[in-house]
Amino acid sequence: MPLNAAAAMIDNALQPLVLVTSVQMLLYAVAWLLCAWLLRQDRRAVAHWGGSMLTMSAAFLLIGLRGEPRTWLAYTGANLLLVLGYVLVRRGFERFLHQRPRDAEHLALFGLAAAGFLLLGPGAEQAFWRVLLAYGVTVLIVLRAVQTLMRQVQVEYGLWPSLVIVSPGLLVMAVGLLRVGQQLQDPGRQLELHLTRLNNVEMILSYLVGAAAFNFSYMTMVMVRMTRRLQAMSLQDSLTGLPNRRVIEARLKHEWRRWVRHAAPFTVLAVDLDHFKQINDTHGHLAGDEMLVQIGQRLQAGVREVDTVARTGGEEFLLLLPDTDAAAALAAAERVRACVGDEPLRVRGQSLRMTTSVGVAQVGGDDADVAAVLARADAALYRAKEAGRNRVCGVDAPQAEGVPASTA
Ligand code: GH3
Ligand code: MG
Ligand code: MG
Repeated sequence: MPLNAAAAMIDNALQPLVLVTSVQMLLYAVAWLLCAWLLRQDRRAVAHWGGSMLTMSAAFLLIGLRGEPRTWLAYTGANLLLVLGYVLVRRGFERFLHQRPRDAEHLALFGLAAAGFLLLGPGAEQAFWRVLLAYGVTVLIVLRAVQTLMRQVQVEYGLWPSLVIVSPGLLVMAVGLLRVGQQLQDPGRQLELHLTRLNNVEMILSYLVGAAAFNFSYMTMVMVRMTRRLQAMSLQDSLTGLPNRRVIEARLKHEWRRWVRHAAPFTVLAVDLDHFKQINDTHGHLAGDEMLVQIGQRLQAGVREVDTVARTGGEEFLLLLPDTDAAAALAAAERVRACVGDEPLRVRGQSLRMTTSVGVAQVGGDDADVAAVLARADAALYRAKEAGRNRVCGVDAPQAEGVPASTA
């Protein structure tokens, strides 16, 4: 092969790889920006990561222009964009973890790097210092980002997932430190990213792998958080924040199994507000909503921690009291009735009174399933309404002993 042909090949050997890296980062940027557009929560954090990938993609495009004559843009510009990319990653973490962004520190680090790169310029003889500055600042920013992440992410995700989340940062730091070490050991070695230097292949590959690891682990982090949020939402009543029907049904099944296996008795209270429609009609739907929220809080405060208070319908609540005998169940039901009805509620500046009717049913030997217990609680509630409201009614469990006393 003629000498100049070989030189031309080496000249361009890294160009495709640099271009692939740039396009890969551009695709990540598009994915993050799309995510930011679709997400409501964490939008700002995700937008930062999109911006970071966009900045790094542009940096690699500029690196692709490195050659003779040396331009300011291809060296100083590319380095500045890379540092800005790392700063954006870290600022994104701060947003994601709801911390106040440390903008003074970001500005100081970026300013320091910018001043250094501007001072050094694109000259070949300054490559040693540019390498130290670029990798040194990168390691510093990533180290601070890992510090920011580690403790808080561990609380949210647990130890192992948090190690996976910070591992791309550790990888970048390791590569950066290695590069600084190599450069210090052999100051004459040409380590700056440059298309004619085949020893840069491993560096560009580490950018490709690092970017893939970074984007994979943070997309997973965002997805896990989103899934958990959706899960929590699917179990919660959106107005009162109380557990919804799905939750109490699952707990009822659990209590039923305990009853069948260990004869551990449980009680359900069906609670329905009295003439609630009048509140809406007289004071408006918003006042009704506010009242429902406050009553939910009172019900929750009126029972034990092991009990479940769920909102199962418009102005209907269902309470599950595990390990409760007949006498205790009736006492609890009376407490529930009193905690809503005895003191007026403060709603939209007005003092409003609301009472409840409560139907009590304790699981009994003749109950075929949970539905039978619930049906008896409903029947008791109906009797409470019929008897004039603002009262507790218990139905006798169809068994010989341990039967709750009926109060109506
Ligand atoms: P009763 O004593 O017989 O139970 O009378 P009531 O008025 O409480 O019962 P009814 O079933 O006639 O009316 C229930 C009302 O609850 C009607 C509905 O507008 C209201 N409601 C249901 N869900 C909500 C809600 O989420 N917010 C508000 N503000 N009102 C609701
Ligand atoms: Mg009602
Ligand atoms: Mg009702």
